[in-house]
Amino acid sequence: MFSRIFTVYTCLFVLGGCVYNDEPMPRITYDHSSKIALRKESQGQPRLPLRGENIPGDWLPPSQVEKKWIAVVIHHSATKNGSAAIFDKWHKEGNYWEGVGYNFVIGNGTNSGDGQVEVTFRWRNQIIGAHCGGTRGNWANKYAVGICLVGNFNHTTPTMQQMRSLVKLVRFLQNRYGIPKSRIYGHNTTPGTRATDCPGKYFSVAKLKSMLEF
Ligand SMILES: [Zn+2]
Repeated sequence: MFSRIFTVYTCLFVLGGCVYNDEPMPRITYDHSSKIALRKESQGQPRLPLRGENIPGDWLPPSQVEKKWIAVVIHHSATKNGSAAIFDKWHKEGNYWEGVGYNFVIGNGTNSGDGQVEVTFRWRNQIIGAHCGGTRGNWANKYAVGICLVGNFNHTTPTMQQMRSLVKLVRFLQNRYGIPKSRIYGHNTTPGTRATDCPGKYFSVAKLKSMLEF
């Protein structure tokens, strides 16, 4: 009796398995349209406080266009000086892009303030970035926030003010979009990206992560 039941169940299991295996593989898409609410909002949870830090108003994108960002990619400019306006000009004239490729630029006191966070048109309009090519389906440009620190970190380290601003900005992004430390990347360690030494040998992603909360 037992062996009969066992046989019947085994057949059902095998048949079931076959049916299951005929199902198409789920497609991985990165289409977070505006219909998808932000994770924390959809769970009805309040956003985590940021240790009382004041968040500049221009870091908050217009709610009607806000996207669900899933990662952060850190870059250096590989130049001694620069600013959002300067990179905007270079990327337009040199690359024929519609403007600066990053979402944010953090100055080093040369052409913008030391630690000054500049918000670019890509963040304000929540449109695709142009900072991390080569990833599968271009996911990094579509869904990772590109932050560029002015400086060449193959020769120098970021300034203290730059690191302070970077930590504040990354914490803000983590809290707002539920991005864990494991999805904070340097450009060169972003999964699928083209070979690059960005953000430079003296920029430590590990040090940045040690200053984050989760
Ligand atoms: Zn880069």
